[in-house]
Amino acid sequence: CGIIGIIGKDAVTPRLIDGLRRLEYRGYDSAGVATLVNGHIGRRRAEGKIANLEARVAAEPLAGTTGIAHTRWATHGGVSERNAHPIATDRVAIVHNGIIENFQELKEELLAQGRRFDSETDTEAVAQLLTSYLERQMTPEEAMGQAMARLKGAFALVCMFAGRHDLLIGARRNCPLAVGYGEGEMYLGSDGLALAPLTKRICYLDEDDWVVVRQDGARIFNNGQPVERPITTTALSG
Ligand code: GLU
Repeated sequence: CGIIGIIGKDAVTPRLIDGLRRLEYRGYDSAGVATLVNGHIGRRRAEGKIANLEARVAAEPLAGTTGIAHTRWATHGGVSERNAHPIATDRVAIVHNGIIENFQELKEELLAQGRRFDSETDTEAVAQLLTSYLERQMTPEEAMGQAMARLKGAFALVCMFAGRHDLLIGARRNCPLAVGYGEGEMYLGSDGLALAPLTKRICYLDEDDWVVVRQDGARIFNNGQPVERPITTTALSG
């Protein structure tokens, strides 16, 4: 339901959780955060209030300068820690707002390839699809380009890749997603409000855009072509 991602210069977990608090107004039933720790995906998730997630993080801190976080409002799969986002494989962690309408078809295809699912969410079909592409030696950019052609429904997605602390990839269709520009840092968020304490320079993606975000900027694509979108300076303040 609410998404935030940061490629930062220092530890991102406290700022990710702060961003989730700013997205609380949308409503949610569980929350989670994932970062890259020595190139591996580390995750903490909890049912219920963000305070529960904070308790999880306090008990088991999560280092890392690249990370993603989510407040979930369950549509597919019950409310449980296991179904809370980020949904991850060993190669990719993703947060998702919306509904993947063709997840059942994708899931059957991926199960037939021998992939094993860990959650009951529609979102996991995206994580497993990307993983199957990565295992075929595609780059994260290639994998996302292919996935965009397969996914149906409504989504804002942010994906983080094992071993790649230098990038996050976002995508949108029928759900908003914003890119925030910082000083040597970059952000993704489901709205400007989540990003308000981090930056005033924001770019809202257009329908079907996907974006490769690195510490020094963003490259946006639509239908296989690079595109430019305006960066606006918001009046929202932290
Ligand atoms: N459909 C996804 C799920 O149920 C995402 C829900 C949301 O937007 O929070 O896990």
